[in-house]
Amino acid sequence: MRCFCGIDIGGTGVKLALLDENKTVLSMDDFSTDSIHGLDAFLEAVSFSLTKMKSYAPGAEVLAVGIGCTGPLNIETGVVENPYTLPELEGVCLTAPVQSALGIPVYIENDANTAHLGEVSALDASDSGDTALITLGTGVGCSVRIGYRLFSVPGGIHPEMGHTSCGIDSDIRCYCGKVNCMENILSGTAVNRDADRFFGCTPEEVFENPDTDAKKRFCENIVHGLFNSVTTLSGIFNSRIIILAGGMTVFYNKYVLGKLENRIEMLEPGISVIPEVVTAKLGKDSGRIGAAILARMKFENRI
Ligand SMILES: [Zn+2]
Repeated sequence: MRCFCGIDIGGTGVKLALLDENKTVLSMDDFSTDSIHGLDAFLEAVSFSLTKMKSYAPGAEVLAVGIGCTGPLNIETGVVENPYTLPELEGVCLTAPVQSALGIPVYIENDANTAHLGEVSALDASDSGDTALITLGTGVGCSVRIGYRLFSVPGGIHPEMGHTSCGIDSDIRCYCGKVNCMENILSGTAVNRDADRFFGCTPEEVFENPDTDAKKRFCENIVHGLFNSVTTLSGIFNSRIIILAGGMTVFYNKYVLGKLENRIEMLEPGISVIPEVVTAKLGKDSGRIGAAILARMKFENRI
């Protein structure tokens, strides 16, 4: 049975999955990122997990491995350039050594891109060639597909679209230097920070009871910031489906999505692409499933 392995490397955990050719998950495994001290420990842990997963899938022949890694990383060289959340792997090339240890091809992508591939596989849509994914978590990340291919800029660099303007100014400056980037307005960090410092409560409580003008403005800024962000993505990249993912998905689904859809309905067809905004379905598994799909697509030269 031909299979593909996906590895999702995050700041706290490494998640692995084994998928068959029909994208069916055969087995999964996890280990803690804290347990990795350098490349050798990573190779040992991956090898151990792969053997364990194959034991649950008799007859599995693993043809390739896909890795999704929290950025920044260089996709062309496979080198992790992330001292912030992956200090133990910073400066380490993950592709060639894993390929040499396992004896099969290894491909790497930014984790927003692998999550995007995973979520696209779970979409109930026939017209899914042009899509975008916005990860709303501690920070904000974006991934774009155009004509079924992942968008990237030359040089193996994943564009940091989470630090582009969402049209709402904060009185606090983001570490990127701007006051109006998506991350500074829409991330979980920003939304919780602002609700706490302005109102001494959670953002959920503000949306539940916006009983002052300042609270109404807070809610409006989040809705309008997300509206500006999704329509910018759909306007530039022709994204017909935009997937909201990440740790804040539940918050956005409950409090923001309905208001956002009302605003999208006012767009003029023919001038603007009218995006359909949906929420992620695979949750924390989208990265590892998408990484295995990446492995298959790269292996078959489809991206
Ligand atoms: Zn920023």
